Amino acid sequence: MSVSAVAADSSVCAPLAVLGRDVTVPLVTGGEVTYAALDYAASAPALQRVWDDVAAYAPYYGSVHRGAGYLSQLSTDLFENSRTTVAEFLDCREDDQVVFTRSTTDSLNLLAAALPADCQVFVFETEHHASLLPWRDARVTYLNAPRTPGEAVRTLERALADRDPHGPALVCVTGASNVTGELWPVRELAAAAHAHGARIVLDAAQLAPHHPVSVRELDVDWVAFSGHKLYAPFGSGVLAGRSDWLRAAEPYLAGGGASRKVARRPKEAGGGVDVEWHDTAARHEAGSPNVIGVYSIASACKALTEAGFDELVARERHLIRTVREGLAEVPAVRVLSLFGDDAPRVGVISFVVDGWNSSHFAAALSAEYGIGVRDGLFCAHPLVRTLLGGESDEPGECGAPEAAPGEKSLNAIRVSFGAGT
Ligand code: PLP
Repeated sequence: MSVSAVAADSSVCAPLAVLGRDVTVPLVTGGEVTYAALDYAASAPALQRVWDDVAAYAPYYGSVHRGAGYLSQLSTDLFENSRTTVAEFLDCREDDQVVFTRSTTDSLNLLAAALPADCQVFVFETEHHASLLPWRDARVTYLNAPRTPGEAVRTLERALADRDPHGPALVCVTGASNVTGELWPVRELAAAAHAHGARIVLDAAQLAPHHPVSVRELDVDWVAFSGHKLYAPFGSGVLAGRSDWLRAAEPYLAGGGASRKVARRPKEAGGGVDVEWHDTAARHEAGSPNVIGVYSIASACKALTEAGFDELVARERHLIRTVREGLAEVPAVRVLSLFGDDAPRVGVISFVVDGWNSSHFAAALSAEYGIGVRDGLFCAHPLVRTLLGGESDEPGECGAPEAAPGEKSLNAIRVSFGAGT
């Protein structure tokens, strides 16, 4: 059956039709089509407010921390004020550091590189690869997928109770799943971690665009998120939290900006160079920073705060209900869920359509209906395999393993949106 027939046969489009930031895209064959981009979980469209702020700053572009000139000073202020804005957005503690990175992946790799010697790491197998993989050089315990939030807490407690109590330990957990959209019991997991002398880092890549994240209230030690999922452009991210491990670690990158003092070592002392590294966030921000990216994150944080999360959450909850109820009326559709239908969630919904290859189905939604969704294993292979009941054994990448039309799904389709939709 042709790709168009797949979509034409389907009633899946109807529930999706209520969503969508419509954009007009040109067709290769000429003309234009109105397109609903429903892949916010991958990258959300930057807010107009963010583009406006960046455009207003553009004439004053200058290097950061590198000059007495007016533009350089202005850019440095903008950069450092952005740090304060992000700290406020995350409700950080007094002595927390906000380190600017390239993305959530980069933030978690930075933290992995800063782990104290002999650190044990605990991570659920359900995590996005960005949270699952950076710890491979440490002593990692992978925890089985829980089927309720309560089971997640009990699983972690059991694992921590069995750990060697003397060394440092870190728990890494997502706030909201990039596959099911389900919220994880972060506060309870943090309490369990701390009760056993462990620390916890929150992967807030999917949580921060949808819900307020308070480091203090959740009592997490670090939080990581990406600008491009928080309505800012690509290329910048954040790792915020406790400064002690970050201060004690070797710089993530060696270079200018991270070093306070560099001097040649005398020949009689062996030669080479002696370096004093900064012990502020700059320690892990060597090189010329992405000022535009950082400023965009701060602008997006302000825009979300001003819009008010209460309002955004309420609007998104309505959209989630509408889409889920619509999909529930299509017998061929199976929505994927770890914690069950009633679990609180953000606007990320994954599903399979009985008898259809998800990649072909997604291609048809785009080609025939102008609805852009994501298909594949969503960089969370173990979780998607669990949710598909072990159906997918394909290696795949973040993208989609192949299957012939009409074959059972090896992967899933994901629609994702935000309250700004
Ligand atoms: N964590 C989660 C839950 C995600 O959904 C993603 C991206 O999809 C990441 C981490 C990685 O984010 P980035 O690609 O911006 O590093």
